[in-house]
Amino acid sequence: MMEGSAGLKHKHLEFTLAAVSELSSSSVSSSSSYTPVIARFSADGGVAELRFRQGSEFIDGFNVDLGTAQLFKLGPVKSLCVSESSETNKERPYSWGVTIEFRNEEESRDFHSAFEQWKEEDVVQGTHLPNGAISASKSKFDNKIEPSSAKMYFHYYGQLLHQQNMLQDYVRTGTYYAAVIENRADFTGHVVVDVGAGSGILSLFAAQAGAKHVYAVEASEMAEYARKLIAGNPTLGQRITVIKGKIEEVELPEKADILISEPMGTLLVNERMLESYIIARDRFLVPNGKMFPSIGRIHMAPFSDEYLFVEIANKALFWQQQNYYGVDLTPLYGSAFQGYFSQPVVDAFDPRLLVSPPMCHVIDFTEVKEEDLYEIDIPLKFTASVGTRVHGLACWFDVLFNGSTVQRWLTTAPGAPTTHWYQIRCVLSQPIYVMAGQEITGRLHMIAHNAQSYTIYLTLSEQGGILQTSSCKLDLKEPYYRMSQPQPYTLAQDQQPHQLLQAQDIPIHAEDLEEPELLQQPSENSGAQLQ
Ligand code: SAH
Repeated sequence: MMEGSAGLKHKHLEFTLAAVSELSSSSVSSSSSYTPVIARFSADGGVAELRFRQGSEFIDGFNVDLGTAQLFKLGPVKSLCVSESSETNKERPYSWGVTIEFRNEEESRDFHSAFEQWKEEDVVQGTHLPNGAISASKSKFDNKIEPSSAKMYFHYYGQLLHQQNMLQDYVRTGTYYAAVIENRADFTGHVVVDVGAGSGILSLFAAQAGAKHVYAVEASEMAEYARKLIAGNPTLGQRITVIKGKIEEVELPEKADILISEPMGTLLVNERMLESYIIARDRFLVPNGKMFPSIGRIHMAPFSDEYLFVEIANKALFWQQQNYYGVDLTPLYGSAFQGYFSQPVVDAFDPRLLVSPPMCHVIDFTEVKEEDLYEIDIPLKFTASVGTRVHGLACWFDVLFNGSTVQRWLTTAPGAPTTHWYQIRCVLSQPIYVMAGQEITGRLHMIAHNAQSYTIYLTLSEQGGILQTSSCKLDLKEPYYRMSQPQPYTLAQDQQPHQLLQAQDIPIHAEDLEEPELLQQPSENSGAQLQ
């Protein structure tokens, strides 16, 4: 029942509860006919807060700052309120939670809507500091990502067709499934956080492996579908709580023993979601907790592909026309040419196109600092296995599930079963010639930008006879998808219809794949040359 004054200018609002208890303690305050437990919203001094009192006594330490608090429905008359701990409370260095029991469903509903209203009140008041400065309540995510990029990004993942595309990558989903199920010991009886849960599939796998509880955190509208999917699988779903919000911003009632996530984009780092995975580690993982996956590796090798080079160069030939309906297009030829070579090429290629054995750059998710991912600088050194023209650098990645029972790699290598990530190739507008046995050096320098991707600076040199160096600048956000299958995030394009696979066809890959074999390069360059 609602008491007290209502309306926008209210000073406080009170609700009578059935009971309230702190999550991690056994003390429960229940209403009796003499002393009801009251929840009180107030905005004294410009800070919106929620407190609880029994009779006229406020319950000690139960002050919820509505600016950071979140409210979850645990049942028709039971909810969980989580909040950041106040700085003065040393006993709760972390977030904490209270379980609230209502007398009936209607009061629960009213309380939830009041909570949202008072929370908004806090946002409105809280953003205007006395000196007119904007409050620093922006999250780590908001501080570095352009809002329009984030909007498009979460809109993309809010759609089932894109989640389906990932779910139908059976190499991907099958490897996660196998890694979780074979390592039950890492999940059974443990608290799991699923970072970027999407449809909730990995949370359901973790529950299948015996997790005590899974918090499925998802920022996009997909959170609603995840709730539906999880509710429709009740034996697993009763141990899963879906929390809609960014991992950088949500509060959880307890720490995780293990994190599970699929944060990999093209070239591992595209989408900048690895940073969110690292932030999740720092915010929610117990010391020495597990991460699934725990490391990622970017593999790189120079390649030779005359057909690809000519195909890209030819795209710009359109602008060579001097009489396009009477207009000379050539002033834009140079820019168009540069533009095509600034797009990383995404497709599955034959590993025989590689000119030398690959090298790799390891990112240890359990150790790396979030800021270390803002700039990734990799010195390159290869020895050419064949004499040929080098057209650029081919890259792919793999990640490790370092389970205590089984170690499993998910690889996107050329020659291995193709995934929705395919492989990526950075093509040089000026190829370099190498002889067998010669050294190729260079640098892959990637700088994160606020549109959730990277600018790539690639240089390759050959010091054999005359020094040849070729450089290019690419935007990982604008890849050229060279095939017609459904595509991963970055391209808002209609999906091609594709064959439905039978469930029994789901491949599960046990092998830790070896690096692709190098074969002799077909000798002469056949394609046309650019002027
Ligand atoms: N785990 C699912 C989905 C993976 S795709 C699966 O394996 O099938 C990555 C998901 O993470 C997307 O749904 C995206 O919306 C979500 N995501 C990305 N960054 C996030 C963040 N900072 N906080 C919460 N969710 C995020």
